[in-house]
Amino acid sequence: MSTRNQDHNQAAPAAPQDLVRRFEQEFGSAPDGVWQAPGRVNLIGEHTDYNEGFVLPFAIDRTARVAVAVRQDATVRLLSTFGDQGMVTASLESLRPGAAKGWTKYPLGVVWALRERGIDVPGLDLLLDSDVPLGAGLSSSHAIECAVISALNELTGAGLGAEDMVLATQRAENDFVGAPTGIMDQSASLRGSKGRAVFLDCRDQTARLVPFETEPAGLVLLVIDTKVSHSHADGGYASRRASCELGAEIMGVKALRDLDVTDLEEASGLLDEITFRRVRHVVTENDRVLQTVELLAGRGPGAIGPLLDASHASMRDDFEISCPELDLAVDTARANGAIGARMTGGGFGGAAIALTPVDSAPTVRDAVAKAFADAGFAAPEIFTVSPAAGAMRIA
Ligand code: ADP
Ligand code: MG
Repeated sequence: MSTRNQDHNQAAPAAPQDLVRRFEQEFGSAPDGVWQAPGRVNLIGEHTDYNEGFVLPFAIDRTARVAVAVRQDATVRLLSTFGDQGMVTASLESLRPGAAKGWTKYPLGVVWALRERGIDVPGLDLLLDSDVPLGAGLSSSHAIECAVISALNELTGAGLGAEDMVLATQRAENDFVGAPTGIMDQSASLRGSKGRAVFLDCRDQTARLVPFETEPAGLVLLVIDTKVSHSHADGGYASRRASCELGAEIMGVKALRDLDVTDLEEASGLLDEITFRRVRHVVTENDRVLQTVELLAGRGPGAIGPLLDASHASMRDDFEISCPELDLAVDTARANGAIGARMTGGGFGGAAIALTPVDSAPTVRDAVAKAFADAGFAAPEIFTVSPAAGAMRIA
């Protein structure tokens, strides 16, 4: 187990005009524009994506922003307001998977993926700023990629739709950065909208916006970052995927998405005990996403608490990807007024979310902080997020 040290940058992101000014200082002329894209939180639907199932993420009010100017040569110059790499220069011809370092692999990965699609991306000057906390399960990497692809889609006149931009950023993450991620994060970042969650079918990439307005319901969504990442996270992820594939194969379906809760009785007779529980998580989780979508469209966010709770129990008991810190965060939040709480993300650490009445939020924050101190755990980072706009041009 390791504890991440970096504090979340809680400062508001630079205003567009500040970023423009900084760009002019660094690069000597004005950018062609400024684009932003948000991080995301997955409200419900965990480990369902690679089973071709349903997820329900939303774009958050934390964004990556890029000021970009087209150059007349084949050089890319990159600078960020964070990090100590200074200005990084690369030539378009030299872009190769695995060659870029640090944060620059995300923008360069997007340039590479677009060029692989035959889009004539020119040389660029690019300045990046972001207030999406990194490594907290809020997808700071996709926020960067989605801001960059929004900029390049417009500057090159490529005219890609959301679906193609999703696939291009996936290509950048999978093949250039080397992270085996799916389509959820960039779908939320590119398709998100204020007061909406993105109901996404991971089989055919169809997406639908669903009302998710916390504020009018008197609710806030707290993110509790445990700042813990367990060393077996990678192996755990691979073994869960393998169990899901085995379950689907024995049940004779293409993916677990093709089973529903009425198939579980048959599955319990055919699968070994562990595989059955893994399958039961995915099948019931898909069902919970569908129920959540229905409730959000009808009774509103105040009604989804029990589904969040059930999702956590399923990940803790059936999928076995929680950890003591996540369980403590969820249990303490609920005991102190949250109407529903669950771990979010891949598991074995990372963050939990707690849907909480506005009035109870301070109590929940204090109680979770105290419970962690009493248990001898490192102090968690707790902050609110709200469903916000997806990627857009801002200057
Ligand atoms: P996440 O779940 O946040 O996407 P990743 O490991 O995929 O975690 O991406 C985090 C990486 O993104 C960092 O290691 C860094 O290279 C880059 N990054 C993103 N945002 C920032 C930032 N604000 N400051 C520094 N690096 C950042
Ligand atoms: Mg990431």
